[in-house]
Amino acid sequence: MDIFSHPDFDGHEQVVFSQNDRHGLKSIIAIHDTTLGPALGGCRIWKYRSEAEALSDVLRLSRGMSYKAALAGLALGGGKSVILADSRTEKTPGMMRAMGRAVERLGGRYIIAEDVGAEVADMDQIAKETRHVSGLSGGAGDPSPWTAQGVFLALKAALRHRLGRDPGQELEGVRVSVTGLGHVGSNLCRMLAGAGARLLVSDIREDAVAGMVEAHGATAIAAEEAHSAAAEVFAPCALGAGLNAATIPQIEATIVCGAANNQLAVAGDDARLAARGILYAPDYLVNAGGLISVARPSTGLSEAQARARLEQIPETLLHVFALAEQGGVAPGAAADRLARARLNGTGPGPEA
Ligand code: NAD
Repeated sequence: MDIFSHPDFDGHEQVVFSQNDRHGLKSIIAIHDTTLGPALGGCRIWKYRSEAEALSDVLRLSRGMSYKAALAGLALGGGKSVILADSRTEKTPGMMRAMGRAVERLGGRYIIAEDVGAEVADMDQIAKETRHVSGLSGGAGDPSPWTAQGVFLALKAALRHRLGRDPGQELEGVRVSVTGLGHVGSNLCRMLAGAGARLLVSDIREDAVAGMVEAHGATAIAAEEAHSAAAEVFAPCALGAGLNAATIPQIEATIVCGAANNQLAVAGDDARLAARGILYAPDYLVNAGGLISVARPSTGLSEAQARARLEQIPETLLHVFALAEQGGVAPGAAADRLARARLNGTGPGPEA
């Protein structure tokens, strides 16, 4: 497998492969950029179809973290890790502790936290081996409600911007298709329902769908139809690459705004959405709430300062929409440019 010429390799500072046969650990830690600070990023525990798929995922996700921290104004770099395992059947405390030792060997250049398949309890195991871990019980805690809140605020800003919805009434009667009803998606559904949205919900887990139907009177739809549902907003909150050459022509929504990382299958999908008149809210910009929360111990931000940073997400999003319009590019490209400018020291720098 080629690394330096890999399409997702972006001059990453360090990529570390770790194996521990005793505890069944196979992991990859990717540190993309530490210009602004240590690389903080979640650990995804996932049964990948291949090692190549895992490598691609961690390379893309870690780059996204550099950009996410830069746009959130945090003094943090970008990193991410993946463990190649089924989180429901293969994850053990021993595996987590072995991962903690792999993180410890990096001496603080990488700070681990939760992502898909990882829980607060896993971080507590990792913390037995390293102090370079965030999102612990009794610490910053579960980042998902913060992530959901950031997406919720961004979604309302996008509705004001694109559909001219009145402030405070943005979601009244608006149909939102939420796919992926896990930690973030379920919190987002609660906020959307509370603001008067009509929910169309989907997940590959039937119990998760039933829970949202029961709690919020949501309408259940098939996961394969989430993107093509008749709705004003499509909110992808499952895994990545949901916006691609096959799905984009079928999207009914005018706005795409969700929590999932790496929503665009390839960079050009951003322009594909714009060409169809669909407003795309860049994923790493709108889903930064969890990072802002788990970064509190590393950045020294108080809860109130972190909340204030979270509330800046919609302003940054509107700024990116303006930059995109001025530059004649799609919002994803405008967000990338703004993030790169901050990393290169040519844009407004981190404040934390
Ligand atoms: P989660 O594991 O709790 O939930 C993911 C949900 O998606 C699960 O219910 C799963 O069954 C469902 N799912 C998986 N494949 C699906 C498919 N093909 N169609 C429909 N549903 C599917 O994860 P989460 O923490 O809620 O994160 C969701 C997304 O948001 C991920 O992409 C994650 O990287 C991103 N994200 C999460 C956070 C956070 O704070 N947790 C922060 C930033 C970004």
